[in-house]
Amino acid sequence: MATNSYYRRNDYVPGQKTPYKVSRSKIELFMQCPRCFWLDARLHIVRPSSPPFNINKAIDELFKKEFDSYRLKGQPHPLMVEFSVDAIPMKHDKLVDWRQNFTGVATVHQPTNLWVYGAIDDLWINSKGEAVVVDYKATAKDGDVGINSDWQISYKRQLEVYQWLLRNNDLIVSNIGYFVYTNGNINADGFFNKVEFKTKLIPYEGDDSWIEPTLHKMKTCLEDNNMPPVGEAAMGGDCDFCTYARQRTELTLAALDNKRPKSKAKKSVIVS
Ligand code: SF4
Repeated sequence: MATNSYYRRNDYVPGQKTPYKVSRSKIELFMQCPRCFWLDARLHIVRPSSPPFNINKAIDELFKKEFDSYRLKGQPHPLMVEFSVDAIPMKHDKLVDWRQNFTGVATVHQPTNLWVYGAIDDLWINSKGEAVVVDYKATAKDGDVGINSDWQISYKRQLEVYQWLLRNNDLIVSNIGYFVYTNGNINADGFFNKVEFKTKLIPYEGDDSWIEPTLHKMKTCLEDNNMPPVGEAAMGGDCDFCTYARQRTELTLAALDNKRPKSKAKKSVIVS
């Protein structure tokens, strides 16, 4: 049992009858590394988080305001016209809640009793009356933005979880979602208190068929008292966090070995 200051009372307890909350990002964590998910859910040993991306958050908020103004007017945003998207921003009385981080779109998955939730950025409606899931992304990089790098599988899974959640909230959801992807120009002559962005709408055809089996696997993992194997870093390859933790542990154990009387010192064993 973890005894560090992060310990909380609502860690998953095997056999528990109350629904257990898993956010969209915890599903992503499980997909990347079941061990980190298990440590988080069972012992609340949480992988260090990165500092908040405040500039990205600001861009998200501004995009929301921008698309909201066209939602009010019932008109397509100029980007939707430019990229020939047959949709307008959708009006829905739950949209405010669905955009909130700690409520989001939620459903209890009955077979596993997992309370799945995630906050969407935006929702559009196409001419067939289907809801279109939209996620805003911002970056600043040389060249064009796209969604086909290996690590961007997490973006695709994100959209698919939202599609699944909305379907479980009785919406008819198009398989096609959009990334509103904006890229800051790093080749300008200077900063001069502004960064110029260029925005693309990138369609993506989602497939949420992996989500149900994944929820069952997550439930099995939660119920298991054994720690599962490590996965991969978000960008692929070895995970920096575990590499760091292992190297620190090796150094600590080596230092402890050196302090022991020679006759008692024996080589420490590291379990990866
Ligand atoms: S490999 Fe990374 S993600 Fe997995 S348990 Fe270690 S720190 Fe967590």
